[in-house]
Amino acid sequence: MKPGTDIAENLAKVKARIAGAAEAAGRDPGAVTLVAVGKAFPPETIKPALEAGHRDFGENRVQEAIDKWPGLKEAFANARLRLIGPLQRNKVRRAVALFDVIETVDRLKLARGLAAEMDRSGLRPDCLVQVNTGEEPQKAGVLPREADALIGACGDELGPPLKGLMCIPPIGEEASLHFALLREIARRNGLGDLSMGMSADFEVAVAFGATHVRLGTAVFGPRPPFNAAGSG
Ligand SMILES: *Cc1c(COP(=O)(O)O)cnc(C)c1O
Repeated sequence: MKPGTDIAENLAKVKARIAGAAEAAGRDPGAVTLVAVGKAFPPETIKPALEAGHRDFGENRVQEAIDKWPGLKEAFANARLRLIGPLQRNKVRRAVALFDVIETVDRLKLARGLAAEMDRSGLRPDCLVQVNTGEEPQKAGVLPREADALIGACGDELGPPLKGLMCIPPIGEEASLHFALLREIARRNGLGDLSMGMSADFEVAVAFGATHVRLGTAVFGPRPPFNAAGSG
């Protein structure tokens, strides 16, 4: 088979399923963006998705994205890249330079660092606050009971680039409870973007109002094992 055929087909299939889930929920299918998660895959695997016309991508490691994406962005100038994994302060400058959206703001110091770097560089990637809806000790994100305070403080620091919230529900739990919680926190804070739903549960996420679903294996197939743990 021609390399990339599978990926183009996978994209078409998941886009149809997203549209179906949106319509079933009485939502506009155009209000849900498929974010293709390329983590652990080389640029050669990601390129067919770009060639098929897809433009929204996610990576969960800054260094890996720096190694892979400058070349791809050069070839596909309107590709949009989202950081969906943890961001350390010492990588803020490089992250702001490369990513169009940073989904993993989870502490005030980081929001301050991002705001300072945005002022310095003039680049203003959109930002989401990551909420640890399952209160898992090993997982990044602000605890739900501390979310309103952090969102307010991050909004003061970041201003309009603060667009919404992101979560990664615990494995093995009913994801819909976490999606509903994230939607409620966003609603009461007046935020529009909801990044939630992965390959196993994106249709549920769409039913609960996801504006961005992050799909890795459903688009690119099983990840190479050495990197499968990732951060999600
Ligand atoms: C890897 C990852 C995904 C994609 O996971 P799949 O189950 O392969 O769709 C989504 N979000 C985050 C934060 C991830 O790390």
